[in-house]
Amino acid sequence: MDKCIFCLISNNQVESKKLFNNQFCFIIEDIAPKAPIHLLIIPHKHILRISDYDDIGRILASMFDVATNYAKDIGIVDDGYRLIINQGENSGQEVPHLHLHLLAGRKLLGMG
Ligand code: AMP
Ligand code: ZN
Repeated sequence: MDKCIFCLISNNQVESKKLFNNQFCFIIEDIAPKAPIHLLIIPHKHILRISDYDDIGRILASMFDVATNYAKDIGIVDDGYRLIINQGENSGQEVPHLHLHLLAGRKLLGMG
């Protein structure tokens, strides 16, 4: 997608430090962090609506694998962290390209 910011970062057309990168996905820091650690796990593929994909379980599982392994690598497992996916307008999704938020580093209050 030409104007999608996460596609542009994926293709290195917009600079952003990738903390992790493989053929399937990459991790960057959120530009407007809501916690001391706020990372985004982003598949390279432009996925708009997760409900449109028959193999979405495999894709999401891979994203959660990357997130949980990275959480171990940076030592936040004992204190805990939150993983969130926003999907669609009512969720408040701002960037229409599937991504998983990883938030940590402070006590996170309830959803809302
Ligand atoms: P969501 O509301 O789930 O779509 O989350 C989108 C997130 O992407 C927000 O937390 C933004 O702060 C973040 N974001 C938008 N543009 C960038 C960017 N260029 N680099 C890093 N994070 C971004
Ligand atoms: Zn995209």
